[in-house]
Amino acid sequence: MNQYTIQQIADVLNAPSQIAEPAALVEYLLTDSRRIAFPQTSLFIALQTGRNDGHLYISEVYNSGVRNFMVRKGFDTTALTGANIVFVNNTLDALQQLAAWHRKQFHYPVIGVTGSNGKTIVKEWLYQLLSPDYTIVRSPRSYNSQTGVPLSVWQMSEQHNLAILEAGISTVHEMARLQAIIQPGIGILTNIGEAHNEGFTGYREKALEKLRLFSNSQVLVYCTENLAQAGIDITGDDRHLLPAGLQLFSWSRSGNATVKLLQEEQNPAQDTTQLRVRYADTTFSFAIPFTDKASVDNAITCCCIMLYLQTGAEKIQQRMPALQAVDMRLQLMKGVNGCYLLNDAYNNDLASLTIALDHLVQQAGAHRKTVILSDIFQAGMAPAQLYRQVAAEISMRRISRFIGIGTQMQQVKHLLENMPDAPAIELYESTDAFLHKVTTHHFRDEYVLLKGARVFAFERISNWLGQKVHQTVMEINLSALVHNLKQYQQELRPGVKLMAMVKAFGYGSGSAEIAGMLQFHKVDYLAVAYADEGVELRKAGISLPILIMNVDEAAFEVLVQYNLEPELFSFGILTAFQQYVRQQGLQQYPVHIKIDTGMHRLGFELHDMEALQALLTQSTHLRVKSVFSHLASSEDPGDDAFTDLQAVRFTEACTLLQQQLGYRFIRHLSNTGGISRRHDLQFDMVRLGIGLYGIDSANNEHMNLQTVATLKTTIAQLRHVPAGDTVGYNRKGKITADSLIATIRIGYADGFGRRFSNGAGQVYINGRLAPVIGNVAMDMTMVNVTGIPGVQENDEVEIFGHQLPVQQVAAWGKTIAYEILTGIGQRVKRIYYED
Ligand SMILES: *Cc1c(COP(=O)(O)O)cnc(C)c1O
Repeated sequence: MNQYTIQQIADVLNAPSQIAEPAALVEYLLTDSRRIAFPQTSLFIALQTGRNDGHLYISEVYNSGVRNFMVRKGFDTTALTGANIVFVNNTLDALQQLAAWHRKQFHYPVIGVTGSNGKTIVKEWLYQLLSPDYTIVRSPRSYNSQTGVPLSVWQMSEQHNLAILEAGISTVHEMARLQAIIQPGIGILTNIGEAHNEGFTGYREKALEKLRLFSNSQVLVYCTENLAQAGIDITGDDRHLLPAGLQLFSWSRSGNATVKLLQEEQNPAQDTTQLRVRYADTTFSFAIPFTDKASVDNAITCCCIMLYLQTGAEKIQQRMPALQAVDMRLQLMKGVNGCYLLNDAYNNDLASLTIALDHLVQQAGAHRKTVILSDIFQAGMAPAQLYRQVAAEISMRRISRFIGIGTQMQQVKHLLENMPDAPAIELYESTDAFLHKVTTHHFRDEYVLLKGARVFAFERISNWLGQKVHQTVMEINLSALVHNLKQYQQELRPGVKLMAMVKAFGYGSGSAEIAGMLQFHKVDYLAVAYADEGVELRKAGISLPILIMNVDEAAFEVLVQYNLEPELFSFGILTAFQQYVRQQGLQQYPVHIKIDTGMHRLGFELHDMEALQALLTQSTHLRVKSVFSHLASSEDPGDDAFTDLQAVRFTEACTLLQQQLGYRFIRHLSNTGGISRRHDLQFDMVRLGIGLYGIDSANNEHMNLQTVATLKTTIAQLRHVPAGDTVGYNRKGKITADSLIATIRIGYADGFGRRFSNGAGQVYINGRLAPVIGNVAMDMTMVNVTGIPGVQENDEVEIFGHQLPVQQVAAWGKTIAYEILTGIGQRVKRIYYED
């Protein structure tokens, strides 16, 4: 483990400091106040990222026992008695500088991987392939950003003898910074696809930026076709862009290259591909357990690295067939007895355990938390130290129950027992022993994290604890949701708050799960349509303030009981609520006043203001937290004059109320379309709805959103139907030529409406679109798959999502994405994952 003194760190950074204890040791760099495992030996770095600012959490971190801080110059630290403080101009720069210096302490080979796709897979496969020969340190999951890279590099230590680090960039000038931190001697450029194109003017610019990672490397592994495609002639005109001494280690399918791929032969029955390559004077073959082109590309890249490191063809032939798929996803699914399972199929190492535990805490909220963990096999760390850290990570997160599986877990038990907030502990020798002894009654209404090394086959546990899946599922990518949140936050002026709309079951994506994620990422407010939805959120442990938009008198009791804040939109509802609050003996109950500025849906009108003020100032039972209105046409530039009129009316109403109330309230007007189009209408807060779920209602390209929801089903049956026959109810599907028809497991009861009948809608199967034939039925639909290669029963079918944008599907159905998303039936299981 690395240990520097805080004084050493201040000296490295050449930064002014205020140090109470110069010999204090720093082992861990902490950038997130929610992740404090070892306060005594952590250095908290107050990063300013996007709209969040680590400086806001310093007293919280101090109270958790941390005494080492890196803050910006001028930050007031007088309250931090006895702390060691390093002052820097920019904390991110300083973190990177510190990591770069740390990197320089080591002289073993460092592989730097970049490219648009495949970085993480190449990194993980190299880890699988080279582990028998090296003690490897690598980036956890895909920690490849401006903060992720320094934190990855910080893990390098004397115990390792090879590092594999990922670098990812989203705009120009970022790579030079990552190069200075990673300083890779061995470079890998995976490919330059379409992914993450925004932020660059073109293909070539993006490729050139990526090449900067290798500006001081000895060797670069790349595919000649990839670079040619990006318009780069690396052996000719563009050679000067790379250091003169750089060895080019290329591979190619067609042209001249260091490694030539001579032959690739897919064997679909066995799910393998046989590859034949030529390197120098030798040719040899090996098999990989995949058949897709991306996997072949990634495997050849790994093969090049092994050849460069002189691992030898024999070991390549031995190890390639054993490659394992890299499943990055952290899946959350419903289990037996009201449980949720968080299944992390990614490698079982310390870094990914830490990340998985964070997700568990984030998802579980106030629920009981159980961790099922197997022995960990981690290179470069003594077991005693490894398990000490595992125990600390578990103890700090207040886990209710710890179930250890494997012979090493005894150590964790001893350590855990002596820690504060020790969980209940159970140990089992093997997965078999566990499954033998325990019944499903052992689990009830709790969140269970499953984290096991592959040999422990935890999929047996997840199959056993998971509910049988109805084969239609909606997959929700929580990382994409957070990405979208950040995109909109970037649009906000400083100080503007954000309310996230999670009404209608989080626009169909699931309210509690989405709200948990949003709470973790510190949005200011949540809003739902009805009190019941708010109660659900409270029961799921959501503590953020929640606005209820549509209240009636029957809901008052639960509103107050669950501390939910009503929207008051009429004199009737206002006086009734005021009276209820008075009867309950409450004071200053938070409420929100809705103004109708032209939508004509709900709200007080401008001429009501005088009477409204009188009612509100008469008593102290209610407190106006916010005043708001809703735009009728925020996404449409053609209606801007009307939008402006609404804004003028809104401002006027606020001014009138403000004068009489004598205290400040939050003013908010904009929804998604308003946020991305009308920066002038942000007032004090915005209400973000559909944008969170990946759809910019104003169709602003610059928003760069990611798909959150993907609706999938499977093929139940395939049949040949001859010309002249008909398909489905009322014989509406007329077959004019002999056809192959697939029956898929989704119907109008799932939200795939009858509007998609008879070719109006299409679905995505095996890379092609298949039109609906005949009428959509309640639970099933027939689609025409004639001519689509390789279709088989049980194949996956995408209804909308990654391949088929929901906006397109909405257009086919002559409606809007809102209706499609919120119309997906409750019986469709939602599966959550993060990547
Ligand atoms: C639904 C709703 C929003 C969010 O609208 P989007 O277009 O989805 O961003 C904002 N405000 C109110 C009052 C709403 O009902």
